[in-house]
Amino acid sequence: MGVKEYKAKRNFTRTQEPAGKVRSPGDGRAALFVIQKHAASHLHYDFRLEMEGVLKSWAVPKGLPVRRGERRLAVQVEDHPLDYAHFEGTIPPGSYGAGTVMVWDTGSYEVAGDDPAGAVRKGKIQLTLHGKKLKGDWTLVRMRGGEGEGKPQWLIFKSGADLKPLSSRAENTSVITRRSLEQIASQNGLREDKEVIRETRKPAS
Ligand code: MN
Repeated sequence: MGVKEYKAKRNFTRTQEPAGKVRSPGDGRAALFVIQKHAASHLHYDFRLEMEGVLKSWAVPKGLPVRRGERRLAVQVEDHPLDYAHFEGTIPPGSYGAGTVMVWDTGSYEVAGDDPAGAVRKGKIQLTLHGKKLKGDWTLVRMRGGEGEGKPQWLIFKSGADLKPLSSRAENTSVITRRSLEQIASQNGLREDKEVIRETRKPAS
C-alpha cells in the first residue's frame, strides 16, 4: 500500500493535500511521527511514522491509549508522502477523506532494535514517542491474519508507564497552530462537518 495508492485516490486540483514528493532518507535528523485528528465521515486519528522516505500510516478510530495495557484497533492504510506530516486544513466535500484535519501531535520517535521497516514487516513495533502531547512507550502488533485480504489490522497497546490523560483543551488543540477543529474548519470555509466535529469535543475513551 504505497504512495501510488495515495495519489490514485486524490484529485490534486481540488484538494490542498500535498501531491507527494518522496524524499530519500539519511539526512541525519531523527525520524518523525505525526498524529492527525481527522473529522471525516467517522472521526479518527491518523498515526504516521516516517520510514524509508514515506509515512507508514494507521487509522486509529479511538486514538492512542494512555493507560498501560489498554489497546486500540489500528488499521494500516496506504503510505503517505512525507510532506503530508504538515498538512492541516480541510479536504473538500466529495473528495477522498473529506473533512477537517488537525496536526494533533508530532515529534520524533525511536524503535527498539533500530530497524523500523523491519519491525513493520515482522508485525511488531516497540515505539518510544517524543511528542508534544504523547511521550513514552507504545507497541503496535499486527493481528493474526492481518496480512491477508483488505487492510492489515493491528492493535496499539500502551506499554511502559501510564500517561496522564490529556485535558479536553489539549485534546482539541493543534500542536502547530493552536487551533481547534472548529477554527480550522471555519477558516477554510467548511461548515458541513459541524456534526462530526461536535462529537470530537469528547476526549477519546
Ligand atoms: Mn484519515
